[in-house]
Amino acid sequence: MDDKVKIPIKFPEVPLKELETLWMQVGGTLCNLECTHCFISCGPKNDTITMMTLGQVEERLRESRELGVKDYYITGGEVFINPEIFEILAAILSYCPLDVLTNGTQITSEKAKRLRTIQDASKNPLRFRVSMEHFDEDKNDVIRGKNAYRKAIAGIVCLAEAGFSPILTVTRTWEEESDSEMESKFVEFLRKSGVMQPQIKILPGFLLGQLAENERDYSQDEYVTEKCFEDFDITQLQCATSRMATGEGVYVCPILVDNPAARMGDTLADTLRPFPLSHSACYTCRVTGMTCKSSS
Ligand code: SF4
Ligand code: SF4
Repeated sequence: MDDKVKIPIKFPEVPLKELETLWMQVGGTLCNLECTHCFISCGPKNDTITMMTLGQVEERLRESRELGVKDYYITGGEVFINPEIFEILAAILSYCPLDVLTNGTQITSEKAKRLRTIQDASKNPLRFRVSMEHFDEDKNDVIRGKNAYRKAIAGIVCLAEAGFSPILTVTRTWEEESDSEMESKFVEFLRKSGVMQPQIKILPGFLLGQLAENERDYSQDEYVTEKCFEDFDITQLQCATSRMATGEGVYVCPILVDNPAARMGDTLADTLRPFPLSHSACYTCRVTGMTCKSSS
C-alpha cells in the first residue's frame, strides 16, 4: 500500500513458523542494469543499501546455523559486482545449499571456471538463477537495456559450459500467451544455449520501485485482510519461513527491502516474531501464492 494511504483496518500477522531460508542482499542496491520494472529501483548509482561484506555474511551465517537455517539465497542488485563474491559463495556453500540470483551479464568463462572450482570443493549444491525478460532480443532489451540480452546469453553459455544448469527467471510481462506456452518457448531457448536441464521460474511483477513509476502504483483496495486467509494458510507465505539479511539490517523478505517498516532489526535474533502484512505487495503474494524461492 502507498505509505500515504491510511486504511483503518487490522492487518493479519504472519507468524515465523520456522527460519528455513536465509536471503542475503549481497549486491545491495547496486546493479550494472537499470530495468524498467525493478521493484527496488537498483542501478549503477543506487547505493541506498550497501553491499554485504564477507565479514557481515559470516556473522549472519554463524547466527543462522544456530537457528537451523537449511538453505540460502543471495541477490542484489547484482551479486557479481561485489568484490568479495567468490569468498562469499565459498563461505555460504560450506554451510548449506545456495541459490545465486544474477542478471548473468557479468559472468565470463574465467569466472564460470572459478565457480566450478568452488562447487567441486563443496558437497552442497550451488545453483544459479539468471534473470531475463524474453527470448526475443528487442523485447528483452527494451526492459533491461541495450546489449543486456547478448551479455546474459553469454553468461548462461559460460555457466552451461562449466557444467551448471541455470534456471531462467522471468517476470510475467505477456498478456496474450499462456504461462505454459511461454514456458516451453523459454525452455527451448535455454536448450539452444546449451543448458542441460532447462528450468524456468516465472515471477509476478510487484508494483514497487521502477514498475510503480513506469506502470502504476498499488490502488487503495489492494491490501490483505484477515478474510483473505480464511481459505489460505498464511504460513504458506515465504515470510513465515524466511528472512532477508542486508548490509543495513535484517528485513522481513526480499520484496520489501525498500520499505523502512519492513526492517525488523540488526540481527536474525531480532526478527523472530510475527510481521503485520500492511504493505500492498503482500496482496500480490496472497493472490499469486508466489515465493521467491526456486522450488515453486
Ligand atoms: S531487476 Fe535485477 S537486473 Fe534489473 S536492475 Fe533490478 S536488480 Fe538489476
Ligand atoms: S511482501 Fe510477501 S513475503 Fe513480504 S511480508 Fe508481504 S506477504 Fe510476506
